[in-house]
Amino acid sequence: VSRIERLAAVLEEPLLVAGLPGVEAGQANVRYLTGLASSNSAVLVEPTGRATLYTDFRYAERARALGTVDVVETPRGLIGALGPLLRGRRIGFEAEHLPYAAYRTLAEAGVDAVPRSGLVEALRAVKDEGEIEALRRAAALSDEVFTALAAERFSGRTELDLVWWVERSFREAGAAAMAFGTVVAAGATAAFPHAEPGERAIEPGVLVTVDAGCVLDGYCSDCTRTFAVGHVSERQRDLYELCLEAQLAGLAAVGPGVSGRAADAASRAPIEAAGLGEAYGHGLGHGVGLQVHEAPVLRPESTDVLEPGNVVSVEPGIYLPDEGVGVRIEDLVLVTESGRERLTRFTKELLTVE
Ligand code: ZN
Ligand code: ZN
Repeated sequence: VSRIERLAAVLEEPLLVAGLPGVEAGQANVRYLTGLASSNSAVLVEPTGRATLYTDFRYAERARALGTVDVVETPRGLIGALGPLLRGRRIGFEAEHLPYAAYRTLAEAGVDAVPRSGLVEALRAVKDEGEIEALRRAAALSDEVFTALAAERFSGRTELDLVWWVERSFREAGAAAMAFGTVVAAGATAAFPHAEPGERAIEPGVLVTVDAGCVLDGYCSDCTRTFAVGHVSERQRDLYELCLEAQLAGLAAVGPGVSGRAADAASRAPIEAAGLGEAYGHGLGHGVGLQVHEAPVLRPESTDVLEPGNVVSVEPGIYLPDEGVGVRIEDLVLVTESGRERLTRFTKELLTVE
């Protein structure tokens, strides 16, 4: 059964899935359903399973070559062209991915546009064999780059120099792009979960967090390791071990039928027991696929329940700005019928780099 047919089966009315300029999640939904990667397209899926793909001149030829859906070439202002075509019909739209101005254009053209939410995301959350293979390859590339990184000298180099080294290594190893801006955060910088790498030279005696991921065949990887530069304090080692304990507890909790909330809580327990609950201010993880952040989510307020085929990150962290130290350890994990399979396999022992 095709992805479009699976979506059609849960529709009450036709659904307009729009991937307009600047709306990455919508673009990923169109790509997931049709195979077309573009920055300006929309697919209308009818409950009958019929689908029509709208896109402009730049993508029309590739869209027709897909051979899976009817293609209508529109001017660059795609929604303006769609309005008259859909006038008088009741059409669902993706509330999270259709800009308000586009909604207004449809409504003013006489389309009865009704908001819908999470329908394609729910399908995307469960990966098929081909997707799992792509994610496996992306994760293996991460392992390769982290292995090489562990042999690099850190001290004396700037965070941005190492960012460039990491990104260049991914590209040379075959990655199509980075999945997000690489983070290399040394010492006090690592105490910020979303650290900004800078021109500071890294000094011995600090922990360095490296969070990087690539895109391969359209699918993302996401992996974080924390390294010790030269000799680090007992306290820093203890914090690392505590983060690792939390990461292993989170990993062990991941499995089919487990709620995102429960997996998160499992990883939180050791850190809370050590009195550092406040220092772990983000969720345990997120789904990874065509986008680096997608369903399901693992965090205290999550309503998601894991099922086989989910691919999620498991990434607890401890951030202590007052002590100028931060630790995060992240793996990419596939939920299987019986439990879980780690896709990123690079060692989680605290590695000392020069
Ligand atoms: Zn990450
Ligand atoms: Zn992540």
